[in-house]
Amino acid sequence: MPAKKAADSGKAAVKKVAAKRAATKAPTDKAPTDKDAARKDAPGRGAAEKDAVSRSAAVGKPESRTALVRRARRINRELAEIYPYAHPELDFENPFQLVVATVLSAQTTDLRVNQTTPALFAKYPTPEDLAAAAPEEVEEILRPTGFFRAKTKSVMGLSKALVEEFGGEVPGRLEDLVKLPGVGRKTAFVVLGNAFGRPGITVDTHFQRLVRRWRWTEATEPDKIEAAVGALFPKSDWTMLSHHVIFHGRRICHARKPACGACPIAPLCPAYGEGETDPEKAKKLLKYEKGGFPGQRLNPPQSYLDAGGRPAPPLGAG
Ligand code: SF4
Repeated sequence: MPAKKAADSGKAAVKKVAAKRAATKAPTDKAPTDKDAARKDAPGRGAAEKDAVSRSAAVGKPESRTALVRRARRINRELAEIYPYAHPELDFENPFQLVVATVLSAQTTDLRVNQTTPALFAKYPTPEDLAAAAPEEVEEILRPTGFFRAKTKSVMGLSKALVEEFGGEVPGRLEDLVKLPGVGRKTAFVVLGNAFGRPGITVDTHFQRLVRRWRWTEATEPDKIEAAVGALFPKSDWTMLSHHVIFHGRRICHARKPACGACPIAPLCPAYGEGETDPEKAKKLLKYEKGGFPGQRLNPPQSYLDAGGRPAPPLGAG
């Protein structure tokens, strides 16, 4: 049943994007770096040119910088329409919970972290509480996330540093965040973007895979990917761009078998064909909330529920 619903949902998404492409003109961007691209996106340029751009990228012809910027921003705009409810998929109520949850998300799914953190934060709601905890009790709570001994050390060390160096508050600056034990740039940007409203690009495994498939960059190191992709977009787009890309990676553009035949941005993707292209078979690969699949969060935002998304089940319930 979920597969059928996913199939219907995928079909609807493809139709919606196709209809919109035919009926509307691409909006222009205000960022100065997009001037050339914006001119070419002006009214009068239609689907034929878009397809020419797509074909050029798809067959591996050199793509100009301007064309790359245009294509990248177009992908982001279309993803914004497909996932208007995109959001961070870790449950959190404050910056402390988010930084801890992000550290715990290494080597496991956001779902598993979300199923584990309610017990952790109920028992240790503040950095002071967690810093003073008995490690074996924290280990027992964190066991479902894997690597629970190392993660216990990380989150207790992090809490101690917050208490001793930042008065028990999570700092809102990149240079301070990356000094915390266990916090790299990826974690820091997740926290900045989602708990402090400061632009940040989250280069996780989905982001790395998709931006390389889209030929936004050939870089393989997260810092270089972050810099290369950041240069294609205005800073104000960074946080939501990260959510859009990660949502697409989880739902449609999977690591092993991307559902190319049901992908609404296929015409803009040079890697089309890397996955299943048969539309019916591709639809069966979708893991889409609109097809009835639960999300990662036990407490998703209202916009997600309004769009038909379902909360994830608590630990042990499924
Ligand atoms: S066409 Fe295929 S490879 Fe490209 S974004 Fe869509 S699912 Fe991913």
